[in-house]
Amino acid sequence: MGLFSKKTEKKEAEPDAKVAITTDTNVEAERQSLNELVLTSINEGVMIVDPKGNIQLVNPAACKLIGRDADELLHVNHDAVITFLDKTGNRISAARSPINLAIKQKEYKETRDLDLVAADSNNTTPVSIITMPSQGDNPNIIVTFRDIDRELREEHERNEFISTASHEMRTPVASIEGYLGLAMNSATATVDERAMGYLEKAHEASQHLGHLFQDLLDTTKLDDGKIQPVMKPVEIVHLVKKIADGQIPRITDKGLGYQFGSGSVDQQLGGGHHLEQLIYATVDEDFLREILNNLIENAVKYTPSGWVTVNVKADNYNVQIIVQDTGIGIAREELSHVFQKFYRVDNRDTREIGGTGLGLYLVKQRVEMMNGRIWAESEVGKGTRFIVLLPRISKEAYEQQKFLIENQEAQEKMR
Ligand code: ADP
Repeated sequence: MGLFSKKTEKKEAEPDAKVAITTDTNVEAERQSLNELVLTSINEGVMIVDPKGNIQLVNPAACKLIGRDADELLHVNHDAVITFLDKTGNRISAARSPINLAIKQKEYKETRDLDLVAADSNNTTPVSIITMPSQGDNPNIIVTFRDIDRELREEHERNEFISTASHEMRTPVASIEGYLGLAMNSATATVDERAMGYLEKAHEASQHLGHLFQDLLDTTKLDDGKIQPVMKPVEIVHLVKKIADGQIPRITDKGLGYQFGSGSVDQQLGGGHHLEQLIYATVDEDFLREILNNLIENAVKYTPSGWVTVNVKADNYNVQIIVQDTGIGIAREELSHVFQKFYRVDNRDTREIGGTGLGLYLVKQRVEMMNGRIWAESEVGKGTRFIVLLPRISKEAYEQQKFLIENQEAQEKMR
C-alpha cells in the first residue's frame, strides 16, 4: 500500500527561465519525496479529509488500521468506509464522528474513547484520534490515528493498583480518625490541653488522608470508565438550589455571605433574587452534587471574607451554573492548569490551605461525561468564578424523557 493523494498539476516552465526552474523543481521534487517517505514510514495513521468528508490522502498506517487499500478509500466519504465503536461496542452515528465534528468545528481535538474497526478482519483497535484544521486558507482536515491499546492497558494496570491501594488504606485511616475523635471527646476520654493540640493535628491529618484516598479512588474509577453517568431529565434551577443550600452551614460557619440567583443570560443579576423560571437539562444527579459541592467547598476554602454566590442562567441552547466567590483569586498563568490532576497553586495564600489537587480534575471529568464544559475566570485578590455549561432541553423534551424513564422503571418493577 503506497501513499496516495490527489495529483496537483505542475506549471509549464517558461523557456528563458529554464535553468532556475529546473533547480527549483528538483528541490521541490526532493522535498516531496522526503515528505512521502515520512508519511509512508511512520506508525501513525494520517489522513486528509475535505470539507465534504471525502478522503483526499491516506498513508499505509491508516490503511492498515482501517483495513482497506488506499484505492478503496480515496475520494470516498469517510463515513462510508470507516467504522468507529464506542466503549459499549455500539457503532457511533455520523453526528458523533470526531471527523465530522472536526469539519464542523474546525478545532484541534483529541478523542481517546473510540475503537476503530478494521474492515478486512473486523478486529477493533482502541485509537487516539487527533483532528486538526489545515493551516492557512486550506479548508481540509488532517486526521491522525494512533494505536493506544498498550498505553490503555498500562494505564488500566496503574489505575487498578492505585484503586486497590486507596481502597485498602481507607479503612484503617477511617478507624484512626474514629479513635482520635473518641480521644478528643471529653465524654469518652480525658486528655490535657497539650495532648489535645497534638490530637487535633493528628485528626486533621487523618481527615486529609481520608479525602486523598477517596479522591484517588474516584479518579481511577472515572479514568477507567467504571463510573458512568445515569442521565435523567431534571428541572435544573431547583436542583442546583437544593444542592447549594445544603452547603449553607459550611459557608456561614466561616462567616461568609451566601446568595442564590437565577435568570436568563441577558438579565443583569443582582444579589440573591430568585426568578421562578423553570429550566430543564439532562444530568446525573450524583455527578451534579459532587461538582457543586466541590466548587462551593473550594469557594469557601479560598475565600477569607466576603461572599459565595451560586447562579443558574440559560439561553435557548445551554444552561450555565456559576459558582462565584470574593476570595484570593487565581493568577492568569495558573488558570488553565487548575483542572489538571494533582495541580495545586503554590503561593503564600494557598500554602496553609489543605487539599489534594484532585478536586477540579474530578469536577471537569464529571462535567464532560455529562456532555458539558467547564472553565474559570478570575482576578487575583478579587475572586473567582467557575462556569459549568450544560446542554439545555425544552419542556417538551423534559416531559417526554421523564415519561419514557418512568414507563421503563414501571416495566422493570413488574418483571
Ligand atoms: P485542592 O484540593 O488543592 O483544592 P482542586 O483541584 O480543587 O484542588 O483545585 C486546584 C487548585 O486550584 C487549588 O489548589 C487552588 O490553588 C485553586 N483553586 C480552586 N478553586 C479556587 C477558588 N475558588 N479560588 C482560588 N483558587 C482556587
